[in-house]
Amino acid sequence: MQGITGSELTPRKAEYLKYIYLQGDVVKTTDIAAHFSVAPSTVTKALADIAKAGYLEHSPYHGVRLTAPGTDYARFLFRRHRIVALVLSRYGLEPAEACREAKKIEQCISRDLTNRICTSLGHPMMSVCGEIEHDHSCCCPPENRKR
Ligand SMILES: [Zn+2]
Ligand SMILES: [Zn+2]
Repeated sequence: MQGITGSELTPRKAEYLKYIYLQGDVVKTTDIAAHFSVAPSTVTKALADIAKAGYLEHSPYHGVRLTAPGTDYARFLFRRHRIVALVLSRYGLEPAEACREAKKIEQCISRDLTNRICTSLGHPMMSVCGEIEHDHSCCCPPENRKR
């Protein structure tokens, strides 16, 4: 996770990576295409780019799975989203609203900024739309981590 800026993937590709992470294991290209309502050929091309970046590997029968760096990156993407949503909720947005608005701006927030906000909030464990995972890719001091 060292050296990533948070803008390695386009917003759409970041959404693909998050989706693949949530599915757990091997995900079929056609499932991703159906979920995002895009042509399979478009997804195949995007997945090839993400694989080139080292975050995905292809598996037989037209599927992909996350590599170890891809898993870390997906966790970072969720942490960033949830931290941004938490910040917005503190400005009076309802949870669903904060989650929705966060999706529009999170891709502009660098990893460094994410870590600074996380630190200034005291490394929160909970956001409006889920738990904030702190792992070795996080800014948190080791004693604050669950694992
Ligand atoms: Zn959310
Ligand atoms: Zn933190």
